[in-house]
Amino acid sequence: MHDSSPSFVRGWLAERQDRGLLRRLRRASPVASSARFVHDGRQGISFASNDYLGLAHHPALVEALIEGAKIWGVGAGSSALVGGYTEAHAVLESELAAFLGFPAARVFTSGYAANLAVITAFAREAPTAIFADKLVHASLVDALQLARAGGAKVRRYPHGNLSFLGQWLEKSREPVKLVVTDGVFSMDGDIAPLSALSELARAHGAWLIVDDAHGFGILGPAGQGSFADAGLTPQSHWLWGVTFGKALGAMGAAVLGAEEAMLWLDQAARTHIYTTAMPPALAHAVHTALQLVREETTRRDRLAALIHHWRQGVARLPAIEVIHAPEPPESSSSALPRLPFSRTPIQPLILGSPGQTLAIEQALAQAGFFVPAIRPPTVPEGSARLRFSLCADHGEAELDALLEVLSPIFQQFPTADK
Ligand code: PMP
Repeated sequence: MHDSSPSFVRGWLAERQDRGLLRRLRRASPVASSARFVHDGRQGISFASNDYLGLAHHPALVEALIEGAKIWGVGAGSSALVGGYTEAHAVLESELAAFLGFPAARVFTSGYAANLAVITAFAREAPTAIFADKLVHASLVDALQLARAGGAKVRRYPHGNLSFLGQWLEKSREPVKLVVTDGVFSMDGDIAPLSALSELARAHGAWLIVDDAHGFGILGPAGQGSFADAGLTPQSHWLWGVTFGKALGAMGAAVLGAEEAMLWLDQAARTHIYTTAMPPALAHAVHTALQLVREETTRRDRLAALIHHWRQGVARLPAIEVIHAPEPPESSSSALPRLPFSRTPIQPLILGSPGQTLAIEQALAQAGFFVPAIRPPTVPEGSARLRFSLCADHGEAELDALLEVLSPIFQQFPTADK
């Protein structure tokens, strides 16, 4: 920080540093797989990537991006509605809609933009009540704030607590109602109770808005996502969000739903209207990623086996509290590191103290493993955690090697006050 920095910024940063909350960028060097890392000359196995199927480095995807750039150039040149919308976008949208079983789709430049778009667009014209899970992703939290600033009534129900939601929906008199949730929660790896949520929303004439960033490509028999995992098929009151930066190994996002709903996004979604369209070359590459998700099912099977292997391994470690079934996050007061129930690639170990979590992150990095420490405000106070993201490129031997070093490192940095 330069001397000219206003002192309040310096003080603020120092305070965050003292509390173990200062975030710092790491500069990564090229690697052949998202399961590897090279940071400042240090290398090893990475558990930090959402490239769950290992597609980011897939030769077919790399080729498709190059081919797309040769066909379309690098940039879209303008926003979608002004001329940046191409055949590559249209093909991707219709393939996505067909694969997931929705009538239509709209592509966005990121999941963040898609979430801002869908919430603010649908909370725009009439008095709106929005009911969102307490643990929805930060991009949805920002979308809710924008909607609130625009006059919507926003309430956050305790994580997964449908009785609160039901009562609030019952009392709500607003003509537009939105129920908002992640499909897979990004910091805990648990899956929303979609069947019950969908039923509640339908019964009260509400839209169900789901951000399935972490379920898409992974869950369900063919990778369609968390609704397929729950045995559901898309319904007319759903607005469904998927992203391309995780299982699809690329970047961007889409919202799926009824034709009219997509047309409404074209009218009212500001992060769609006032931003340069996704590069058509990227849309072309994402189309290839979608084909790989559909065809290379072995990657999904491999990932499922690794998730199973990991949970069995963690359960055998001494002094870890393993949760074997879904339960409310506040239901344990144990001081032990805690493995919440998750059957997705997101496998956290909740420690509590940010300083301890950061110290363990650093010790693991020295041992050749990059496991990000996730601290407040990204997660609630007292729930700092290591988040292990598993991906199909990991080997079982690598998971075993990590499990081997975990216990001694935990002993070296015992649980501090939460
Ligand atoms: N939703 C969830 C649940 C996420 O985890 C993320 C990314 N961390 C996003 C949305 C944002 O997606 P994108 O990275 O495409 O902006």
